[in-house]
Amino acid sequence: MPSALITGVTGQDGSYLAEQLHNEGWSVHALVRAEVSQQEQAVPSWVTQHIGDLEDASSLRAAVDASEADHIFNLAGITSVALSWEKPEMTARVTGLAVGTLLDAALAAQKRRGTPVRFVQATSAEIFGAATEFPQTETTPIRPVSPYGAAKAFAQHLVGVYRGQGLHAASAILYNHESPRRPTSFVTRKITAGVARIAAGLDTGIVLGNLDAERDWGWAPDYVDALVRISTAEVADDFVIASGQTHSVREFVAAAFQAVGIHDWQPLVSVDERFNRPVDAPRMGGDYSKAKATLGWAPTRGFDEIVAAMVEHDLALIAG
Ligand code: GDP
Repeated sequence: MPSALITGVTGQDGSYLAEQLHNEGWSVHALVRAEVSQQEQAVPSWVTQHIGDLEDASSLRAAVDASEADHIFNLAGITSVALSWEKPEMTARVTGLAVGTLLDAALAAQKRRGTPVRFVQATSAEIFGAATEFPQTETTPIRPVSPYGAAKAFAQHLVGVYRGQGLHAASAILYNHESPRRPTSFVTRKITAGVARIAAGLDTGIVLGNLDAERDWGWAPDYVDALVRISTAEVADDFVIASGQTHSVREFVAAAFQAVGIHDWQPLVSVDERFNRPVDAPRMGGDYSKAKATLGWAPTRGFDEIVAAMVEHDLALIAG
């Protein structure tokens, strides 16, 4: 069976990916920071851990070599656009530079072993920034408007460079993808956790930023499945992975309140400029036709189902 090295295994996508691959019989390795490896149950027992850090190039090379993995999934990095404005240099190192080290190590391992090493990079719709066209496709001009988007764009270009060197290297241009494992630093989980607290009588309101922003929100396990399809596809290529549906933050709020039977939600939501971004892409929407045609991939859950599943999970957490 194939083996995989995952970076970012403790995150939303990494944890779903590790579970999918393990269930399919793959051997699963992960790059794990020393302090995380000390935490009980942070990483499932069936994952082989390699201690390292994206900011430590030698540890990345060592993990690629020691794991002998034939698939590498790079999901680690700064997770949010908001954080990248606070830490632009760290964003460049972790979300950009480290990708070059991993690609270089993968190509070296492929040459040394004489067997293919496949590389999948999770990039992001943020590479399109204030996109020049709607919906965006693999050919939409790359024009990031945040440090996060710029670092992901650099990563995606590097993937293309190493593909040119003979590595099966691919980028998944992931649009926002959500699940109960999303941290509350993202607007979706912030909303569903807040709505659940209000429904349970534990809170009286939610404070948000830009309610007019429109995003293309999908179901995270679907996106992880796309990563596996990309890695096992015959030809390495870049793919937009999106739901194809765009909704505003306001619509997400309304759907979350709807899920707990609250229709008159306006008095429960206030807006504070603190949560606004220096630059915020106003409207994102992806066209996943290429992934559908080439990989047979399509989303399995729609917007209302995603919102309802997240609210339900947050209600269950409160109920204990
Ligand atoms: P992102 O698209 O990767 O930045 O994912 P987020 O979930 O963090 O943000 C999605 C959109 O929600 C962005 O346009 C934010 O400006 C908007 N938004 C509005 N209010 C909030 C908030 O309170 N927190 C966050 N994180 N985003 C907010």
